[in-house]
Amino acid sequence: MVPVLPIVPFEVPAGFERLVEMAYDLWWSWSPEGRDLWASLDPVEWERTHNPVHLLASIEPTRWEQIRNSEVVLDRYHAALDAYDWYHNRETWFDRAPNKPSGPIAYLCTEYGVHDTLPIYSGGLGILAGDHAKSASDMGIPLVAVGLLYRRGYFRQEIDLDGEQQHFYPVLDPRQLPLLPVASPTGGQLRVGIEFPGRTVHAAVWRLQVGRVPVLLLDTDIPENHPADRPITHQLYVAGREMRFCQELVLGVGAVRALAALGIEPAVWHVNEGHAAMSVLERAARLVEAGETLENARERIRNQTVFTLHTPVPAGNEVFERGLAAKYLGPWAARMKADLEELLGLASDGAGDRFDLGALAIRFARVTNGVSRRHGEVVTADWQHLIGGPAQAVTNGIHTPTWIGREAGALLVRKVGRSWPTRLLENPDLVEEARSLPDSQIWSMHRRRKELFLTYARERIRTQLARLGAAPDELRAVDQLLPADRLTLGFARRFATYKRATLMFSDTARLESILTDPQRPVQIVIAGKAHPADRHGQEFVRRIAELAASPSLRGYVVMLEDYDARMARYMTQGVDVWVNNPRPPLEASGTSGMKAAINGTLNLSVLDGWWVEGFNGKNGWVFGSAEPNGDWEQADAADAAAFYDVLENEVVPLYYDRDPDGVPVGWTERMKESIVSTLVRFSAHRMLKDYWEMAYLPLGTGLFES
Ligand SMILES: *Cc1c(COP(=O)(O)O)cnc(C)c1O
Repeated sequence: MVPVLPIVPFEVPAGFERLVEMAYDLWWSWSPEGRDLWASLDPVEWERTHNPVHLLASIEPTRWEQIRNSEVVLDRYHAALDAYDWYHNRETWFDRAPNKPSGPIAYLCTEYGVHDTLPIYSGGLGILAGDHAKSASDMGIPLVAVGLLYRRGYFRQEIDLDGEQQHFYPVLDPRQLPLLPVASPTGGQLRVGIEFPGRTVHAAVWRLQVGRVPVLLLDTDIPENHPADRPITHQLYVAGREMRFCQELVLGVGAVRALAALGIEPAVWHVNEGHAAMSVLERAARLVEAGETLENARERIRNQTVFTLHTPVPAGNEVFERGLAAKYLGPWAARMKADLEELLGLASDGAGDRFDLGALAIRFARVTNGVSRRHGEVVTADWQHLIGGPAQAVTNGIHTPTWIGREAGALLVRKVGRSWPTRLLENPDLVEEARSLPDSQIWSMHRRRKELFLTYARERIRTQLARLGAAPDELRAVDQLLPADRLTLGFARRFATYKRATLMFSDTARLESILTDPQRPVQIVIAGKAHPADRHGQEFVRRIAELAASPSLRGYVVMLEDYDARMARYMTQGVDVWVNNPRPPLEASGTSGMKAAINGTLNLSVLDGWWVEGFNGKNGWVFGSAEPNGDWEQADAADAAAFYDVLENEVVPLYYDRDPDGVPVGWTERMKESIVSTLVRFSAHRMLKDYWEMAYLPLGTGLFES
C-alpha cells in the first residue's frame, strides 16, 4: 500500500536476500520462527539489541561464511520464510467478511509501542496502538497508521543511589532501525509541508511495516527546516505547551497530507485521543476548498470519523490557551472560510476560553467511545453535552501472539493451528479445551516462564548495582536473590499518581510480616517510570527505591529500572500474581493485567477498568473499593488494608497448598480459569472486531450518510 525507496544500509550474501525483507517487517517480533532466525544469526549481538536491521549491518564476512554452512541457520531461515509467506498470503478474516468499507482505515495516534527497539511510546496508549496495528494485520483489515518519529524517543530511566530518577534520551538513527523512506510519487523521500507563522515546516515520512499494516512516521528533523523547527518531533510528550501544540499540528495536518500525497483515500478515520484531532481541521479545509460549506464538510467528516478517548485523567487530554491556537490556525480558518473565532469555537469545551482537542474531535466524530464499559460511562458523564448522547464503549484488548508465553503459544499452534488468534475469535469455545490440560503441565509451563523472568531480573539488578559501584561479592550475591519457589508479586506501570504505586507500602510493618514469613515467604518486583515533569511520580520512585534498600524489606522488594515492553513481557509471563491498584474510576482500561491473565498470572486488582468486566470470581482476586472516594487518605488506607487481607488470607495459602508432586492444584485451577476467561475476550482481535461492527463498517459503507 505504501511504496518505499530501496535504501538498505547493508548487503547480504546471495541466497539470503529475503533476510532484508524480513528485517524490515516487524512481523518477526510476534513470530517464534522469526525470532529464532535472528537469534541464530548472531546470538550475542541479538541478545544485546533485538534489532534485525542493526544485526544484518553488523555481521562480518567471516560470520556469513559460517552461516552459509550452518544447517541450523539454514533450517531456521527456511522455516521463517515459510511462516512469513504463509502469513502474507493466506486467506484472512477480512477476506471472508461479507461486507467491506469502501477504502482503508486511517488510524492516527501520537505514540506506537510496536517493539522495544523503537522507543516511541510511553505506556498503555502506545502499546495499544501497536497491538491494534498487529491485530489488524493478522485479520487482514486494511489499516494505515500515522504517527511521529521521535528522534529522541521516550526517556530511559536510571535510578541513582538516593532513589532519584535520572532521564536519558536515546538518539534514534532511522538508518539503524526498521524504517524505510516512503517514496514520493515525484521522486525522493516523501515530504509534507505544514504552514507555520511566516514559514513552512517540512516533515519527512518514514514507513514502519507491521505485518500487512504500514505505520507512517513524520519527522521534522531534516535539513530543509530551520534548526529551530527541527526538534518539533524530537520528544514524545514534550513538556513545553507550545512545542506540544506544534507537534500536534504536524501530526494532525501532516497525517492528512501524507495520505493524500500517496493517493490513499481512507473510508474511515480513527482518531485516538485529542493529540491527533487537528487532522479534522485539515480535512474540513480541503472539503471547503472543493466547494462544500463548512457545515456540510463537518457532516461529511463526522460520517467518516470515530474518536476514541483513552483516559479520564486531565493530563492525558489536550487543552491549550486559545491565544496559542490563534497564533497558528489562521491559515486553516481562511481555508475553511471561517472566522478564527468560529474555528476556535469548534474546540471549546463549554468552559469558554480554552482550545480543547478532545472537544474538537468529538464535534467532528459520529462515534465517540471509551475503552472499557466503565470508562464509556465516565466519558458519557464528562462529554455527553457535546456527544449529544451516551458515549460508546469498546473494551481494549492485547495482541495475544505478542504477549503469550512461548510454550503456551506453541501449544495453541499445535491444537488450533497457525491462525489461532483469528480461529479462536470465530470459535471462542475452542479455548475451553484448555481446562482439560493436566495441572502439572500448566504448572511446569509457568515455572519455566518464572525461571526465565527471575534470571532476567537478576541480570538487570546486577547491571544496576554495578553501575552504582557495588563490589564483586555484592554482585555475586545477586545470584541468591529472588528465589523461584517464593510466591512472587509483580507491579509495573507508569508511575502516574492515580496508579498509586506506593499503596502496598502503606503499612510497612504489616507488609514485612507477610513477606518475611519463613514458611510462606512472598517477594515483590516493581518497575515503572515517572514522567520527567511529574514530581509526585518521581517521589514514588524514590520512596520505593528507599524501601527496597531498607534492612527490613531488602531482598523481598526489588525495584527494576527502565520499564519497557520487553520487561513487561518477561514480568507479566513470569510472576505469579499481577497487582493493580488504581484510584477508581481513573483506570480507563489497563492492559498489563490482560497480558498477565492470558498467561495464567493471576490478577489481584481493584475493581476498575477492564477488570470490572474481566473478573468472574474464579480467575483472580479483587480488593478494596470500586467506588470513587474523594477522601484520598481514607480510601488509600482502606484499600491497603484490604490488599493485605486478601493477600494473607487467600492468595498466600492457596499458593502454598501443594499436592504430593508439589503442584498447587487450587492455584492451577485458577490459572486455567484466567486463561480461558480472557484469551479471546481481551484480545485485540476481539477489539478490532468490535470497532469493525461499531464504526469501521457502518462509517466505511456510508451507513450514516443521508
Ligand atoms: C502493557 C503496557 C503498559 C500498559 O499497562 P497498564 O496496565 O495500562 O499500565 C504500559 N507500559 C508497558 C511497557 C506495557 O507493556
